[in-house]
Amino acid sequence: MGMRLIDLSVTMEPSAGEPVPVEIEYVSHEDGADILGRPAGLDRRAFPGGMALSLEHVKLTSHSGTHIDAPVHYGPTCAGERAKTIEELPLEWFFSEGVVLDCPGRNADGPVSKSEIVDCLARIGYAIKPLDIVLIRTDADELWGRPEYFTDFRGVTKEATAWLVERGVKVIGIDSFGFDPPFHRMLSEYCITRDPGALWPAHLYGREREYCQIERMSNIREIPIKSGFLVACFPIKLKRCGAGWSRVVAMVKE
Ligand SMILES: [Zn+2]
Repeated sequence: MGMRLIDLSVTMEPSAGEPVPVEIEYVSHEDGADILGRPAGLDRRAFPGGMALSLEHVKLTSHSGTHIDAPVHYGPTCAGERAKTIEELPLEWFFSEGVVLDCPGRNADGPVSKSEIVDCLARIGYAIKPLDIVLIRTDADELWGRPEYFTDFRGVTKEATAWLVERGVKVIGIDSFGFDPPFHRMLSEYCITRDPGALWPAHLYGREREYCQIERMSNIREIPIKSGFLVACFPIKLKRCGAGWSRVVAMVKE
């Protein structure tokens, strides 16, 4: 049985798609030969072609590129217990059946609402079950690398997030900069209402119930079906961290 694998992650690079630029320092095969030879008093001239092994030094945040937010990112506790860090989460959460919800749009369309999700599921005739990995396609990844990528996206409401998590969903992915609406949108709402609930409402819902977000995905539109495929999105084990990078892959039977 053949499987078509679809890459749903962005490339980690010094890109304008990152608020904190990813820095990669490349150590060449020639410099790598000097480094490897040094303990033995050798340099590159000892190696075939004057070259040995290359490597890279990488500097980035735990939230750079396509990454998974862990419960502890949202707050120190979840449902009254110490919130889990990224390396403590069960692998079962990150390899499961996927479902695509088509919610295209930008900031002007407002955050993805609960009724929109319910309608979307009705349209594709799918009922959410525990551990489904829900992928919300907004197409905001088309702005990756442009300044609008940080400001012109939808986000998801707290109510929509809660509705999915109450059905046993543990991982929800989105193809935009963030999972909540853009910062300027939340801030202007807060300045009118002075309601703390206006600030990162979906993220902070994670203080009540455990769930993970995948932020900055790409290519969800390339998945040819809405359900009946698998998603693998294992996060890298970063000690006591609130997020981890992931190579998110959809697996579709051929
Ligand atoms: Zn994050």
